[in-house]
Amino acid sequence: MDKNRVLTLWDDDGVNEKDTAVLRQKSAEVPVPLDKESLNAVQTLIDCFLERDDASGLAAPQIGITKKIIVFRNKNVGEKEKLKPEDFEVLINPRITQTRGEKVTMAEGCLSCPDVQIEVSRFPEIKIRALNARGEKISKRYLDYVARVIQHEIDHLDGKLIVDYEGDIYYPKRKEQLMSKLFGKT
Ligand SMILES: [Zn+2]
Repeated sequence: MDKNRVLTLWDDDGVNEKDTAVLRQKSAEVPVPLDKESLNAVQTLIDCFLERDDASGLAAPQIGITKKIIVFRNKNVGEKEKLKPEDFEVLINPRITQTRGEKVTMAEGCLSCPDVQIEVSRFPEIKIRALNARGEKISKRYLDYVARVIQHEIDHLDGKLIVDYEGDIYYPKRKEQLMSKLFGKT
């Protein structure tokens, strides 16, 4: 398997059983203090994320590492811009400790759900407890777009994906046949 391939629930032939089994797993808590294996996993996730210019965030299970690690852009920067180290963050064992505001509905995409966008309601403000990439405890507030991305990535750690939300689904016309095969009559 290509080590930097992002796992997907389906491909053009239909459901991708092998990838789905991994994506649906609950990821394991990372042991603290961070051991070598965990630090390697963090670095692999960062490398994979930086290789792509089409992702707002990436969760370790998406590259086949079922550990609670996520990486994401911490600003809503143009998707094609080259990311500098200050433009992204890593969270290990992230936990939402507080939410604020009324949920906002917006269409989201996911590298593991190719070709679709699905409307998902998320909190506009969250407080997170986690470890950073160096294994230091942090507690931090995130807003709006970044809060949405983090909630999306934390879902991945629980084996949950945007298809589990019953929001409206959008896809290109050329994918109609595949989508009705995947989701039934739409
Ligand atoms: Zn995703």
